[in-house]
Amino acid sequence: MRVIKMLLCFVLVTGFLVQLGNTKVEAATSFYDVKSDHRAYDEIMYLAQGKIANGSLSGYYYPNKVVTRAEATAMIGRALQLNGQQRKTQFKDVGINHFASGYIQSAVGRKIVSGYVDNSFKPNNTVTRSEMAVMICKAFGYSFGNSQSGAAQALLSRGIAQYVNGSFGADIKMNRADTAEFLAKAINYKLRTNPEVNFDKEINVATDSLQVRTGPSTNYNSVGTLEDGETATFAYSVGNWILVKTSSVEGFVHSAYVTSESDDLPAVPSSSSPLSLKTIVIDPGHGGTDPGAIGYGIYEKSVVLDTSLRVKKLFAQTPFNFKLTRETDKYITLQNRVAFAKQNKADTFVSIHANAFNGKANGTETYYYRTAATNPYTNDSILLAKSIQKRLVAAWGTNDRGIDHGNFHVIRENSMPAILTELGFIDNKADNNKLRSPAYRQLAAEAIYQGILDYYKAKGYNVNSLYNIVD
Ligand SMILES: [Zn+2]
Repeated sequence: MRVIKMLLCFVLVTGFLVQLGNTKVEAATSFYDVKSDHRAYDEIMYLAQGKIANGSLSGYYYPNKVVTRAEATAMIGRALQLNGQQRKTQFKDVGINHFASGYIQSAVGRKIVSGYVDNSFKPNNTVTRSEMAVMICKAFGYSFGNSQSGAAQALLSRGIAQYVNGSFGADIKMNRADTAEFLAKAINYKLRTNPEVNFDKEINVATDSLQVRTGPSTNYNSVGTLEDGETATFAYSVGNWILVKTSSVEGFVHSAYVTSESDDLPAVPSSSSPLSLKTIVIDPGHGGTDPGAIGYGIYEKSVVLDTSLRVKKLFAQTPFNFKLTRETDKYITLQNRVAFAKQNKADTFVSIHANAFNGKANGTETYYYRTAATNPYTNDSILLAKSIQKRLVAAWGTNDRGIDHGNFHVIRENSMPAILTELGFIDNKADNNKLRSPAYRQLAAEAIYQGILDYYKAKGYNVNSLYNIVD
């Protein structure tokens, strides 16, 4: 017994790996003040393993300390793998250096928590059981009728919360142990008092050797793998991870690597996706004092801006970084469009235009720049042009004018795969009818979105689940 205690002590000390220089701190997976007979021991350990619950650097969890709004938000943020990068927030009392500034900003963006009318967040305020129940419901997508009693019921019925002296204890302040109990039970149903969930939705695995883990992040141990094309059922999601089950294994997988007909599949793969490092810049041609081509009373600058904003809405549901050179009707020089793409380190640049000629010419065409002297990404530009051209022609049924070399400033001077697409001829009646139609512009946006996915797929990225957004 003595030997075991000494070993445990050793583990505790080495668990805090402090790398000087970048001040990276390895979280502890055990705490001096949470013994194995603590009522929330399993839950706290489970969250510690996932680096969701952190203790102090000296190895204490402080289970009886009341939890603050900032702490609770950070824990939920880590559980859902929200972007926790410390940054500016919209609140006057949460500065960029506040430890939870990133999680607070992300959680507010997801409407899991909100601030107060005086533009404060009150990060050090305590959290009642009712307030926590509402946060859990919002974070995990439980319907709760927008009321505190509904939220209490949602947690009680799932075995996530229990009665305290015959009631929910709505006004009791949450401590750090209680918070861990609620959160761990919401994540892992096996920790609940009634561990039963329905695996009633089917998924198909869309990658080789998909790791199945004991919790919803790569911090959790792998308990098996699923192979490409294998089917499984899933019960619920935690952030962008889903709890799946086959005849041989049960656990969490990242939803970016599966496909499903179910609307319950999370549409947003997490910031851990390699795609989150990819930046797509869409460039709506012309703008402001430069209307571009004009036909039958409509302007190229307006048609391509609306289409581009529709592309933006689609990419907002993906892990990609996405930027538009303009979001309003303003004039931008060609030089500034290129500078914008370079500043944002774009990996893909798509300039959207509409054509005009003599009223008779019609169809869709897409340009790349051939000479590597200025833009070295000729082959990738051709691949991107082909992918988008094919999707656009299929979506609109327009005359396929193909892809070609084009000596345009925005694709010549850029230093990334870059193309310029002409959706159709604005001075041709048939093409103009499509350009002026919001429904057709939506189809064009979807085609450009799918064409970009096709390009990334051809480059070896797993984008399979992202097609669901428009399919
Ligand atoms: Zn143009």
